[in-house]
Amino acid sequence: MSADPTPNELIRFDNVTKRFGDNTVLDNLCFSVQTGKHVTLIGPSGSGKTTILRLLMTLMKPDEGVIRVNGGQLFPAGEKEVREVRKNIGMVFQQFNLFPNMNVLRNVTEAPMRVLGMPKDEAAERAKGLLDLVGLSDKHDVKPTQLSGGQQQRVAIARALAMRPQVLLLDEVTSALDPELVAGVLDVLRDIARTTDITMLCVTHEMNFARDISDDVLMFDAGRVIESGSPEKIFNDPEHERTREFLGAVL
Ligand code: ADP
Repeated sequence: MSADPTPNELIRFDNVTKRFGDNTVLDNLCFSVQTGKHVTLIGPSGSGKTTILRLLMTLMKPDEGVIRVNGGQLFPAGEKEVREVRKNIGMVFQQFNLFPNMNVLRNVTEAPMRVLGMPKDEAAERAKGLLDLVGLSDKHDVKPTQLSGGQQQRVAIARALAMRPQVLLLDEVTSALDPELVAGVLDVLRDIARTTDITMLCVTHEMNFARDISDDVLMFDAGRVIESGSPEKIFNDPEHERTREFLGAVL
């Protein structure tokens, strides 16, 4: 399957295979994400979900297949094209990966100034708006180490949005947090999903969150999408035995 992408497809994987040695992690994977949709990847640990996000961030390359984002090709592609296509994508990681020696505001303004050449005042103005959005308007001047994990993750969300990506990739963004900090981060993401038109591709073990924000849920097993559909369908009436087993174990 490698038909031309439809105009409203933001992400498209065609027959993508990724191996680590003998381990075939993604096996001729085909899926697409429509512009503006919120898509969640669920499935057992080790089924290849994070690998998909890492391929999109060009942190690794597939062995075979084609990856397209926003009309451009991410793989196979030359360095220049990859750089252009990559600008469409922002990611929030499990470990927040903030710049430890920069204050909160600078963490958010750094990439827009350095990578996009945005003037300092404009970057600061925009960063302040984003820090408002994630509930941290009183923390501009503090260093990341003075913040809770939940607050650090909210800075990481603001930082990713500051680059005005078309799509936000979320990789188990609450899994490194103390349980009492999880809800605050998920609430911020629910707000962003509700109030912005950004496309989201999430890997999460938070099934209630997945149910709330998703337009589509893709169930993974062994590097393939075994079932996909609306959250109502996947969570209430799954077709596949593996999906029922998985949901039975996590819900
Ligand atoms: P999930 O996100 O569904 O838990 P991952 O995409 O993280 O799964 O991993 C899928 C498989 O790929 C696992 O078997 C994992 O051990 C393997 N894997 C992931 N990254 C690497 C790597 N850099 N080197 C070798 N194996 C890897």
